[in-house]
Amino acid sequence: MSNEPGCLFVIATPIGNLEDISARAARLLGEVDRVLAEDTRHTRRLLNHLGVDRPLQAVHDHNEAGQVAALIADMQGGRRLALVSDAGTPLISDPGFPLVRACRESGIDVLAVPGPSALTAALSVAGLPIDRFRFEGFLPRRSQARRDRLTELADEPITLVFYESSHRIAAALADCVAVFGAERQATLARELTKRFETVRYDTLGRLRRWVEDDPDQQRGELVLMVAGRPDAEAGPLDDRLLRLLLEEVPVRQAAAIVARFTGAPKNAVYRRALALRDGTRGGLPG
Ligand code: SAM
Repeated sequence: MSNEPGCLFVIATPIGNLEDISARAARLLGEVDRVLAEDTRHTRRLLNHLGVDRPLQAVHDHNEAGQVAALIADMQGGRRLALVSDAGTPLISDPGFPLVRACRESGIDVLAVPGPSALTAALSVAGLPIDRFRFEGFLPRRSQARRDRLTELADEPITLVFYESSHRIAAALADCVAVFGAERQATLARELTKRFETVRYDTLGRLRRWVEDDPDQQRGELVLMVAGRPDAEAGPLDDRLLRLLLEEVPVRQAAAIVARFTGAPKNAVYRRALALRDGTRGGLPG
């Protein structure tokens, strides 16, 4: 047992370009007692690149919970551990949350060693407002669940950020068009910091066609960012017209007429119509 207190360094690693490792991250990876890695082979390559050789231990979604108690005991015994994921910042859609929470609850120091993350890298080049944004991580894999999630987000006025896999990007864009409308502005960032880095700022409708027509755009790692609901999609006019129509015709028909009249997405108007009918707040602001 050491008299020095142990701790956990949460270390960000590159999302593609190895030059993006920070000097502090590189030094600490060579100094800690052990590196906890999502995939030890992957992290071994990074350590080799840095010319350091530290013991590695696999800590990933499938085994993390079972290892937490022993890791806490190690740190209480004075061990200084590093947590890394395959790429970017640990815990951002990556393992590590149970361990970091357990450290906090046990009074063990957790130190951030900040650096790359696809989230901040993509936002920084998106050209969309990022004074506020909503990070949604990965969307559900199945189409119905994905559309339900997107529908919950349709009225969000701030930029939305999604991680997406290459297999699902075309389907996810099709669902975004269906729910947010083809005219909503968006940015798709692919393979950031890597050889085939591609960032395209366009409407959802055009992004969808581009990705569908060019299979190369369905390869690699992707971040999709969608502008928040434009103010023009909301407004008192929608409500006045909707209220009038709701007195005369069924909800679905009222919503369809207002959507055609205003150009707002049908889904959003329908939800607003339901809210007006039921006397709840929701949908477009009144
Ligand atoms: N913790 C990581 C971070 O901080 O960026 C994210 C891990 S998450 C499991 C992996 C997802 O991040 C990918 O599916 C993709 O959406 C995004 N991503 C990672 N590297 C990327 C890159 N170089 N370019 C674009 N997106 C990337």
